[in-house]
Amino acid sequence: MLHKKKEGRTVSLEINKEKCKGCGECVDICRRKVLDMDYGLDRDMAKVAYPNDCIGCGKCLTVCSVEAIELTVDHARISQNQVFAKRKKKVWVIAGIIILLIGMIIACN
Ligand code: SF4
Ligand code: SF4
Repeated sequence: MLHKKKEGRTVSLEINKEKCKGCGECVDICRRKVLDMDYGLDRDMAKVAYPNDCIGCGKCLTVCSVEAIELTVDHARISQNQVFAKRKKKVWVIAGIIILLIGMIIACN
């Protein structure tokens, strides 16, 4: 499912039906409610319910233990590791800002 976002980015999200084990973790973590469960007769699995609402953040990738979610942003496949690395970078930036602020407060006193 390919769709264009307002910012001009192209996001595509697919659930690999062969791999999905129907745990529902991705459904729970997506704040935009893009994903939903498909309760089938033989087995449950996740489905992309509202593809246009996906912002390509990759949060759902981080909770899928079987790598059943295939996300591409601007035609580049996003991996779990990329999402974790981005998250780590954000934490370091926040930590840096806090340390800087503490340093400034101490210097002013
Ligand atoms: S987290 Fe993965 S295995 Fe679990 S429902 Fe979502 S796609 Fe399927
Ligand atoms: S990439 Fe983000 S917005 Fe899209 S389905 Fe996953 S968690 Fe939801």
